[in-house]
Amino acid sequence: SNALVWLRRDLRDHDHAALYHALKQHAQVYLAFVFDTEILDALTDKADRRVEFIWESARELKQALQARGADLIVLHGAAREEIPALATRLKVSAVYANRDYEPTAIARDEAVRQSLAALGQSLFLFKDQVLFEQDEILTQAGKPYGVFTPYKNAHLAKLSPFYLQAYPTEKYLGQLAPLPPQAMPALTSLGFEETNLKAMRLPTGMAGAQQLFNDFLQRISQYHDARNFPAIKGVSYLSVHLRFGTISIRQLAHAAWQLTQTGNEGAAIWLNELIWRDFYFQVLYHRPDLQQGTAFKAEYEGLAFLNHQPWFEAWCAGQTGFPIVDAAMRQLNQTGYMHNRLRMIVASFLVKDLLIDWRWGEQYFAQKLIDFDFAANNGGWQWAASTGCDAQPYFRIFNPQSQSEKFDPQGKFIRKYVPELAHLNDDQIHAPWAAKYHKQSLFNQGVALNYPRPVVDHAIQWEQALRLYKNNVKPK
Ligand code: FAD
Repeated sequence: SNALVWLRRDLRDHDHAALYHALKQHAQVYLAFVFDTEILDALTDKADRRVEFIWESARELKQALQARGADLIVLHGAAREEIPALATRLKVSAVYANRDYEPTAIARDEAVRQSLAALGQSLFLFKDQVLFEQDEILTQAGKPYGVFTPYKNAHLAKLSPFYLQAYPTEKYLGQLAPLPPQAMPALTSLGFEETNLKAMRLPTGMAGAQQLFNDFLQRISQYHDARNFPAIKGVSYLSVHLRFGTISIRQLAHAAWQLTQTGNEGAAIWLNELIWRDFYFQVLYHRPDLQQGTAFKAEYEGLAFLNHQPWFEAWCAGQTGFPIVDAAMRQLNQTGYMHNRLRMIVASFLVKDLLIDWRWGEQYFAQKLIDFDFAANNGGWQWAASTGCDAQPYFRIFNPQSQSEKFDPQGKFIRKYVPELAHLNDDQIHAPWAAKYHKQSLFNQGVALNYPRPVVDHAIQWEQALRLYKNNVKPK
């Protein structure tokens, strides 16, 4: 019998669980990707780097399959209708896909399963996008972990080459169903425009992911030192590729795990980050209500945020008067990426300096981040807002100036994204308002700065934030 592999966030033809199982079980295997209108119609900005990234990556995959006389069938419509219709058209007995852990995706897959069942066809789902899923790692009491360190220890204790081996998909590619070249809808026909993706030279597709990973492997031993400095090329920049599955998590974790066996500290810290990724997926899987905007910790549900709209707008636009915050937000707006240290700084600043609901920031990131992933984004925001599992305690409040001095000491990152401050010296650039280094505020010295004064005073906001949390946290 024949089968259809439905690709979603796994745009590759190698080390792919669903593809491997389909090829092994069936005489002929088709592959399809749907530009799902249920997702795309919700995107308000029609110049969306993610849609273009997917489009470019799907095109690469099409070419790879065409070279083997097969093809990737690319559709545009509601996936929950398109997939059963395609399965009928192709007369396959089963649809294979990799499991998704977001509640909306789980509901979609269930709907597809039912439609297929009514037609006498099956849906088979596989673990692919994480190392361990669902209930694979539980506490001794059989409960999901809510604290990272013991989760990580249990994860590392279980991790072995067995779980990290690649699915040898390539051995069976002869089972791909031959197809004449299929047309692919243009980006504009999907209702989207080109973005600055090409101008940024962000490598897309399977080849782009390998290129980034090979580059990172040259630097991985320094990761633990370099990863906190946004002006340094210290991180892997693989998040968008992990998001859309142009590279396999097993391949990445395997390489890192092997290096840890030889005592490579950078690789160990990087593997740790991949485990954070698994952690947040398992948190979401066990707490699907998070997608409705609930706080992970119920006692933090009633925080009375000020939600002052002009401050929110200043934050979004990178016009708060705090250089490190503004540089970070402008990086996000201009590129769709933001360094992890900066994500922590701007999230803390929005919630604990501007006293704005973390859900507003979460939503803004969801629109802008090219690597947006509900689980990691919600986890990151709730961590910063102290409402999450294993979050920072509410009284830990980042000081944007000292964070800036510590993690961008020469102001290199700030100068790149806030060019109007580029002429300031290294001491002035972190806090042009402050008297600390220059007797009095640069603003009061009559220095012409085409840059806003700070929207708030950190010392005052710090006290207000403490009060807001103390007064509003309901006892358990
Ligand atoms: P590297 O440092 O090279 O890390 C490698 C990979 O590990 C990343 O690609 C990512 O898949 C994973 N990872 C690293 N840190 C984390 C983390 N804290 N939580 C979960 N996974 C992690 N990451 C996303 O992928 N999507 C998001 O929407 C997202 N939103 C965030 C929001 C906030 C407020 C915060 C504080 C963090 C968020 N992160 C998110 C996590 C992290 O910032 C990014 O994964 C990282 O900056 C991506 O860059 P990189 O690939 O170079 O990371």
